Amino acid sequence: MVRTERIALDAAAVSGLEPGFRGELVRPGDGAYEEHRAVWNGAIDRRPALIARCAGVADVISAVKFAAESGLPVAVRSGGHSFPGLSVCDEGLVIDLSLMRGVRVDPEARTARAQAGVLLGELDRETQAFGLAVPAGIVTHTGLAGLTLGGGIGWLMRKYGLTIDQLLSVDMVTAGGEFVKANEKENPDLFWGVRGGGGNFGIVTEFEFRLNPLGPIVYAGPIFWAMEDSPRVLRFYRDWIKEAPDDLTTIVVHRRAPPLPAIPTELHGKPVVAVIGCYAGPVEDGEKVMRPMKQFGSPLLDLCFAKPFVAHQSMFDPSFPRGWWYYFRSCDVADLSDGVIDIVADNALRMTSPVTAFPIFQLGGAISRVGENDTAFNGRNAGHTINVNATTTTAEGFDEEREWSRNFWSALQPYHTSVYVNFLMDEGEERVRQAYGDEKYERLKALKRKYDPKNVFRLNQNIPPQ
Ligand SMILES: Cc1cc2nc3c(=O)[nH]c(=O)nc-3n(C[C@H](O)[C@H](O)[C@H](O)COP(=O)(O)OP(=O)(O)OC[C@H]3O[C@@H](n4cnc5c(N)ncnc54)[C@H](O)[C@@H]3O)c2cc1C
Repeated sequence: MVRTERIALDAAAVSGLEPGFRGELVRPGDGAYEEHRAVWNGAIDRRPALIARCAGVADVISAVKFAAESGLPVAVRSGGHSFPGLSVCDEGLVIDLSLMRGVRVDPEARTARAQAGVLLGELDRETQAFGLAVPAGIVTHTGLAGLTLGGGIGWLMRKYGLTIDQLLSVDMVTAGGEFVKANEKENPDLFWGVRGGGGNFGIVTEFEFRLNPLGPIVYAGPIFWAMEDSPRVLRFYRDWIKEAPDDLTTIVVHRRAPPLPAIPTELHGKPVVAVIGCYAGPVEDGEKVMRPMKQFGSPLLDLCFAKPFVAHQSMFDPSFPRGWWYYFRSCDVADLSDGVIDIVADNALRMTSPVTAFPIFQLGGAISRVGENDTAFNGRNAGHTINVNATTTTAEGFDEEREWSRNFWSALQPYHTSVYVNFLMDEGEERVRQAYGDEKYERLKALKRKYDPKNVFRLNQNIPPQ
């Protein structure tokens, strides 16, 4: 109660934003406040002074101008899936784009326009109706905006690249409340920066993507082995993917088998290692390519077969629900050397939470064919991204699992190459610099001085102008 009073905004101050605002203004004490201040990570508990739920670009412009006048710190929220909860703040203004959910597909031009509040599954729903797709992430309730602005890795990346590699243009509201476009022709410097540089330069209100053919049926899914077989499975996997075509993207996950209908009851809770494939070409070819992995050793369960891409894409949804407690440490490695495999296999056996599941993404293919300096994204030549997710359903056991994640990540330190900016926690400026590398970081700083010299947009993986 005391807290609510402390952050309550002067009603007269908010009245500056109210006239004409088409969306919804939510303040502490309003019925919808608890719902809209909550983000995906249940470990984040912040209380903004005002949540401006924008209905369109005009609302975003008004909210940005209001922020400048009021001096409130600004958090920008689309899908609300930032691991460290950067899209909500204490005692500031949240500019929330989650009402802006329009998608328009042009099947002839093979392009799609998507507003900033769109979630990945919503974009797939619209594009897959035409057998087309944008390469994006692996959980359907993730926000398209935050994911795209950091780069975007997922099931189609080795064939079609990062999400930003199919980005054609963005509409954006700058720190000064101006509407601008960024693409190869208009503001190309800004277009370079938004392809990996996060929300540092302004608020993107709409994205335009190139679409590529996909499915809608693909050969995809997980094959499970007992976790104690992990060192052997990973060594075989490492050699098998060397020859794999770019149509195939794979992810390895160590976890306890979840209690899902597709998994026999006797496996529920059993520690497993799963190799999950998604073949983005003809189904018959996918079956051939996956066969050696499927025949390796004694799999406990094989769920890799032809299925709609949207079914495969939602496979991880129940494993990362909203409201659980999450802590992540991440790094890229050049390859799965024996040293890396031994650390992974050893630490997989040490996780204690029944809901922790950590993915190892296979990179390469189309990602590495785009020049390292063509976009702000860094680490195109890495071999794998390892994401050490510590997860608990509540606060209970969270500290221990977080410690496990930190120790695991530290053990991998000799093998770190780069780090994906969207997989950083709140780790400080030096880590953001590492995520971009010195040269790109300096270029991004110069861009920040041009588009946001006062660092209005600083609640993000921040690149300070000075
Ligand atoms: C369950 C889960 C699965 C994930 N899987 C993947 C994956 O497969 N591949 C992958 O690449 N990443 C993945 N991620 C990471 C994801 O890319 C980031 O968490 C991303 O920031 C989420 O975007 P969002 O819009 O939901 O986030 P938000 O929390 O809304 O925002 C994240 C950041 O982006 C900024 N931002 C948001 N919207 C805008 C905007 N419109 N304009 C300017 N800045 C904005 C925010 O200020 C904040 O700093 C996953 C995350 C989760 C939680």
